[in-house]
Amino acid sequence: ARLMVADVMSSVVGNARAEITQRQQEFSLSLAPNLPNIWSDIERIRQVASNVLSNAIKYTPNGGKISVKAFEINVNDIPSKQREGLQVGRRYIALAVQDSGVGIDPSEHEKVFDRFYRTENPLKIEAGGTGLGLSLVRPLIQLMGGRIWLESVVNQGTTFTFIMPVAAD
Ligand code: ATP
Ligand code: MG
Repeated sequence: ARLMVADVMSSVVGNARAEITQRQQEFSLSLAPNLPNIWSDIERIRQVASNVLSNAIKYTPNGGKISVKAFEINVNDIPSKQREGLQVGRRYIALAVQDSGVGIDPSEHEKVFDRFYRTENPLKIEAGGTGLGLSLVRPLIQLMGGRIWLESVVNQGTTFTFIMPVAAD
């Protein structure tokens, strides 16, 4: 269905508020004005967004920073590997979740999308988890015509970005 990104995000962020407060993390949400609606499944897109946000919270130390941004992404700004198979002429909304957490080594940027894969990091035990989250999220977002990828610097932080197609008029 046709969905408003602002509605999806306010519900996802609302559910995460208590944990963010508990971890004393600095949080910001910025939605570009006049975002077009996306074409997606509300439950599935919530699942994707809440997985990525809960990872950012878990893998960022207490007192760290998390920011969520929604904006229309220029197709040229999508990494070329992720651009493969996207429909020509389609517009996309991006959701970028940036954290100041433990980071992910370049050798593991693809592995984190494998089922049960968890990196060694100082918050691994405390964070808990099965390593299934991202392995479920990637096919879901792809089935909805989107993509997900990450950029990261170890010990500095990670940004997960996912894109969703804009609803046709
Ligand atoms: P689950 O989601 O099943 O509860 P999980 O969070 O460990 O468990 P995924 O969401 O699939 O599993 O993430 C896989 C791994 O990728 C994590 O265990 C962690 O090592 C790494 N990871 C994911 N997000 C981040 C992040 N924002 N910063 C650092 N590492 C991350
Ligand atoms: Mg997870």
